[in-house]
Amino acid sequence: MLESEKKCRVADRILASTDRGQFCWKWKRMPRTAEEVQQLVDCCRILNQIRLRAGRDSWRWLGHGSDTFSVAAVKKIVIQEEVQPTEVFFKWCKWVPSKCNIFMWRATLDRLPTRVALKRRNILVEEQGCSFCGEFEETVDHIFTECRMAGEVWHALSNWWQIPPIYAFSVRDLLVIHKHAKVSRVKKEVIRGLIIVACWIMWKTRNEKIFSRRSCNVVEIISAIQAIGYLWFKNRRKCKGIEWDSWVNFNMM
Ligand SMILES: [Zn+2]
Repeated sequence: MLESEKKCRVADRILASTDRGQFCWKWKRMPRTAEEVQQLVDCCRILNQIRLRAGRDSWRWLGHGSDTFSVAAVKKIVIQEEVQPTEVFFKWCKWVPSKCNIFMWRATLDRLPTRVALKRRNILVEEQGCSFCGEFEETVDHIFTECRMAGEVWHALSNWWQIPPIYAFSVRDLLVIHKHAKVSRVKKEVIRGLIIVACWIMWKTRNEKIFSRRSCNVVEIISAIQAIGYLWFKNRRKCKGIEWDSWVNFNMM
C-alpha cells in the first residue's frame, strides 16, 4: 500500500549487488503504525528466504528424478499411488460422440472457457455477463441450469420425455436426472445421452451468438437436440429400427 510505484517488480526493490537481504524501498511515507511495521518485518522474512539469480526464469519439475518434467516421471508417480484418484463422477455415454462426452466431463470440472473462467485466468473479456440473458455472471452452472434460457430448454425436454419438471442447480445435478426418472432402462439411457447433447448444443449456440452474432431461440435449440439426438442414437447405438415418429413421441422400448 505504501509503495510509490505500484507496478514495480520485486527485482526493482532488491539491490543488484547482493543476492539477499538488501532492499531499496520507495515508500510514499515510512511505515509507522505497529501493523505496518509488523507487515514489513514479515515481508522481509519471506524475501530473505528467496535467492534470486540473474538468469532467465524457468520452470522446474519437483517430482522424482531429474529437474526436467517428463510424462514417464508422472506415470511413475501415478503407478506408485502417490496421487489419489479424484472422485469419478462423469460416466461416458457410448451413443454420444467423444467430443460431447469430453465437453461434458470438462463442464463437470468447471473447465469450460466461460467469461468468468476466462477472467479467473487473467484473460481480458469485455463483458462478464451471461451471453444469453446478460443478467448474471457467466459461469458453467449459470449457463446450463440457472439461466432463463436453460430453464426453458429443460422444461421443454421434460415435457418431451414425459417426466416431472427438471430442477437442477449444478451441472452435476443434470447428470443424475435419468436415475430418478421412472422410465424404462432404454429411456434412461436416452435421457442421459440427451442431457449431454442438450448442454453441448446450448454451448454451441452460445458460441455462435458471441462469435457469429447469430440470434438464438429455445425452439431451434430443442429441434436441434431432437434431430441430432435421433441421428446419433439411431446410428451410433445401432438402433436402426427406431422411427422418427417414435423418437419425437419418446416412445421407444
Ligand atoms: Zn443467463
